[in-house]
Amino acid sequence: MNTPFNTLNEMVRLTSPFPESDTVKDWRASGRKVIGWYNPYIPEEIIHAAGMLPFEVTGNNEPVQMQGAEAYIYSNSCSKIRTCWQLQLDGQYDFLDGLISSHMCDQDMRLSEVWAYYKKLPYMDNIYAPRKRDEVGVQLYLKDLEDFRSRLSQYLICRIPDQHIANSIRIYNRGRELMWQLYELRKRDRPPVTGAEAIEVSKAAARLPRERFNEMMEQLLDEIQRTGREIKKPRRLMIVGNDLHNTNQVAALESLDAVVVVDEMNIGIRYAWGQVDTKLPPMEALARYYVMGRPVDMHTWNSDGRLQFIGEMVEQFRVDGIVSEIVRFCTYNGWDKFDLKKQMAERGIPILELDLEYGHPAGAQVKIRAEAFMEMLESRAL
Ligand code: SF4
Repeated sequence: MNTPFNTLNEMVRLTSPFPESDTVKDWRASGRKVIGWYNPYIPEEIIHAAGMLPFEVTGNNEPVQMQGAEAYIYSNSCSKIRTCWQLQLDGQYDFLDGLISSHMCDQDMRLSEVWAYYKKLPYMDNIYAPRKRDEVGVQLYLKDLEDFRSRLSQYLICRIPDQHIANSIRIYNRGRELMWQLYELRKRDRPPVTGAEAIEVSKAAARLPRERFNEMMEQLLDEIQRTGREIKKPRRLMIVGNDLHNTNQVAALESLDAVVVVDEMNIGIRYAWGQVDTKLPPMEALARYYVMGRPVDMHTWNSDGRLQFIGEMVEQFRVDGIVSEIVRFCTYNGWDKFDLKKQMAERGIPILELDLEYGHPAGAQVKIRAEAFMEMLESRAL
C-alpha cells in the first residue's frame, strides 16, 4: 500500500463535499458567481476572465439512482446525463448561477433543454461545437465564442476585455503544463501515481479556482519528487472512452495488479493537453486551441485520427492492454468500437470492452471479465 500524498488529500478535501464543496461555499459567500459547464467545448478561460468560477457538472464517486430523472429524460438516454439531472433534481446543483453547454451530442443538448425548461438559471447558454477540425470550423466556432462573450458581458453588465481573457489563458496554460508534467511522470517504469489518483487531480482542476489548483499542482509535483513514491504493478493499462468521474471504477481495475498509466478521456489527457497560443489575439487563440489544439475526440472527424492517437499513446506509455469503457447508451464510442478493435488488433494490443452505468461500481460480471483480461495479459508476458 503506497502512502497517500498530502497534497492530493488536500485537493480532495477542498473539493468536498461534492458538488457544493467548502471551496464553492466560500466562493459564493464572497458574492461571486459559479457557472456550470458541461462539455469540453466550453472555454473555461472566458468564464474565469469574467470573474466567475467555472465548475464542471458531473457525477462523482457515489452511484446515483436515476429513477426521478427518468420521468424527464428517457431511460435509454446515456446514464451520464440522467445522473447529472438527478443530482439537479435532488437539489445538489442549486448553487449554480448559470449553465453553459454546447451541441457536442444530442443527449447533452437534451440535458440543457430540460434544465432550461424546469429549472431555469439566471444565465444559460449554448455554444456551437464544430464537427470538423478545419479552418471553417475554427471560424464558425470563433464567431460563436464572440457572441457568447457578448451575451455573458451583457449578463454581467460589463464587457469582458481581451486583456482579462489573455490573463486567464496564461493561468489555464500553466495548469495544463503542470497536469502534463504528471502525465510525463506516468511514463516511468514505476509511475508515482495510480490512474485513480490522476483522475482525482483532473477533477480538482475542473472544480477549484484555477490559481489555487495550480499552486497545489506545484506542491504535488514537489511532493512526488521528495517522496520518490513508486507504484509497483506489473501491468500497464490505458483507459479509453467516456469520462469516468467515479474513481472507484478505476481503483477496482487497479486492484487487479495493474496500474492505469494513461487514458483517452476528456477529463484526462485532453484536459492536460497542449497550450493556447499566447501570441495570437486571445479569442482567436482559444478558438484554434479548442477546435484544433487537442487530440481528436469521438465527436469530430475523422475518427481515424482518434484511433491513431490512442495507438501513439499506447507506444509512448508502454501500455500492455486497453480498457475501452462506454457509458451505457453513449452511442459515440459504440460506433467507433469496431474500428478501435481492428486497429489495436493490428498493433497487437489486447482490449477489454466494458459497458458501464455511469458512476456505478463494476458488477460481478465486469469483475470476472477484468480478472480474465489480466490473466490473459500475464500469460502474454511469460
Ligand atoms: S456520455 Fe456520450 S451521449 Fe452522454 S453526454 Fe457524453 S458524449 Fe453525449
